Amino acid sequence: MNKNIGTADRAMRLMLAIIIFALFFVFESWIARTIVLLVGAFVLYEATVGWCALYALIGKNTCPVKTEKIGNKIFSKISLRFVFQAGVLLAVILLSFLHLKYGIEKAAPIDAYCPFGAVESFFTLLFKGEFLKRIFTSSFILLGIFFVASFFLGRVFCGYFCPLGALQEWLRFVGGKIGLKKDIELPESWDKYLRYIKYLVLAIIVYYSFYLGDLIFRAYDPYNALMHFGNEFDEKFWGYMILIIVLVIALFSKSLWCRYFCPLGAFFGIIKKISFLNIKRDANTCIGCGLCDKKCPANLKIKTANVVNSADCISCGKCIGACPKNSLNYNLFGKEVSKKTFNILVVILVLLPLVIAPFTPFWKTKPQSNIVNVQGNINTADIRGSNTLKYVIETTKVPLSEFILQLGLPENVDTSLMLKEIGLKYILKNANGNILETSDFRSVIDNYLQK
Ligand code: SF4
Ligand code: SF4
Repeated sequence: MNKNIGTADRAMRLMLAIIIFALFFVFESWIARTIVLLVGAFVLYEATVGWCALYALIGKNTCPVKTEKIGNKIFSKISLRFVFQAGVLLAVILLSFLHLKYGIEKAAPIDAYCPFGAVESFFTLLFKGEFLKRIFTSSFILLGIFFVASFFLGRVFCGYFCPLGALQEWLRFVGGKIGLKKDIELPESWDKYLRYIKYLVLAIIVYYSFYLGDLIFRAYDPYNALMHFGNEFDEKFWGYMILIIVLVIALFSKSLWCRYFCPLGAFFGIIKKISFLNIKRDANTCIGCGLCDKKCPANLKIKTANVVNSADCISCGKCIGACPKNSLNYNLFGKEVSKKTFNILVVILVLLPLVIAPFTPFWKTKPQSNIVNVQGNINTADIRGSNTLKYVIETTKVPLSEFILQLGLPENVDTSLMLKEIGLKYILKNANGNILETSDFRSVIDNYLQK
């Protein structure tokens, strides 16, 4: 066995290997799949035996291939936080691909894996006893986990698990490498007021989602656009535009979306304000170098504060890691907490519940049917482009002949196709001259059911 790495390190590498191997199912091209297998195999070796142990197995004493050293070099530069961020990003990409590829009947939409869906759906569930479309118990469980954790770990969702936050942070790193060394930020007098916009965004979204009974932010949400990889471009036009702006700005400025606009960040920011965690600075040892301020992705002023308890602190610990004098520390219930202990708490309070939750009977990412509600009524408005024609026929009992007659589908139409694919596959147009859309199928069903 490779003795140079500890148990936590080994577990981290194993987790990474599993995530990398899972990508095998995402890619269809054999080139991409081969790369996935090679990278996954390397990480797996690093996590388990290492080349030299394998070499010893075949009876050789000296190992010519020093991959453990290469692996340890790579991994010593990777923090546990980075593994969480990268792991979540890869996991949500996988889930999004599965949904886009297999449709809602086999794989839930990405909304089901975001705690913000529960924030949007909360009042609808409370006062109307129902979930907003695309949201189910999974979102509420995720919100519950992060809600509890935030009291002890602050905005740990933003700092350790948010894919969009991670992407902005990495892009800022890339920006620095391509010559954009200095952060370009708005003047402090503007910055401090602009940070309140996100609370307004949160209030507007929560109110109108309840009032209109829909996820109204979806069309503008850059995270949702990111996870659709260019699909549904017309529907999410503003989401894609916002995403592009956010990612371009991230090259030269610190996490603009998180600081000013993110409604989920605002939600966790409110909890952060009443949480038991803050960052403490020891003024006796601090030399005022400002490295902490420079590293902080939330652009907070740390070197002059004795205690950082801003709602915008995302508990990332970058300031702590950057301090040359160890003057900064997490502070929980008034007690100093090391980075290692903080990471262990993240594993106990967030990672373990996240791993266990999908195996509990409460975890559901979608209802039994997205077309027939619990009372057995058909709601045509809920029919999705990712529903297959076969499923629509089975659940609505509208015969195939009706679709063939009304929409001009070919007699031998492949009913396993999703509704959004049929128009494109057979080049079929509706009365307006556009390629057949899901709404055309809904109209046929509505008309038939009213007969
Ligand atoms: S204050 Fe420290 S822990 Fe908080 S966001 Fe800034 S760098 Fe991260
Ligand atoms: S990095 Fe450490 S020493 Fe430098 S200003 Fe911040 S707290 Fe003080």
